[in-house]
Amino acid sequence: VPAAQHVHTLLASYPDFPLPGILFRDLNPVFADALAFRAIIDELTERYRGQFDAVAGIEARGFLLAAGIGYAAGCAVLAVRKGGKLPGTVLAEEYDLEYGSARLELEVGQLPAGSRVLIVDDVLATGGTVAATARLIERAGYTMVGVGVVLELADLDGRSRIGDTPVHTIISL
Ligand code: 5GP
Repeated sequence: VPAAQHVHTLLASYPDFPLPGILFRDLNPVFADALAFRAIIDELTERYRGQFDAVAGIEARGFLLAAGIGYAAGCAVLAVRKGGKLPGTVLAEEYDLEYGSARLELEVGQLPAGSRVLIVDDVLATGGTVAATARLIERAGYTMVGVGVVLELADLDGRSRIGDTPVHTIISL
């Protein structure tokens, strides 16, 4: 069964969460299904095979994807964390969310300069989160080669904030 079909079947939607007017898409039932999870990991890994040296997962559900892709591809894994959780020398980017604002951080010196990085997360909404991650990756001296997400909320046009980098989504709503 294709990954997209799994996601369509398993995805849950919650109106007015976490704020009135937001239709929250819950991907936990997708991650909780063994075949769906494997299909997603396989599709994202295959799409970018041979094109990346590391996969960067955005906290928190992006970590789950990055771990699977890193294992499948045999590549390095980076954790892009929410503000205030990383020690040592840290790069930070502030950005606006669909609801509220946030800060993402990346520890420097994890990969060789010029490493090709694939960025992964569960949902692409306004694109602010991926755009902030892209800035962290570039500031750390790496090259962003692609973006992979499970679900794109197309109305919010997150792609327009990502530029020319390829974006692969399992499904778009
Ligand atoms: P963006 O920065 O693209 O507006 O929002 C993407 C980030 O917010 C992702 O890290 C994602 O986890 C979270 N997010 C935004 N909307 C939703 C949603 O409807 N469902 C889920 N699961 N996450 C969302």
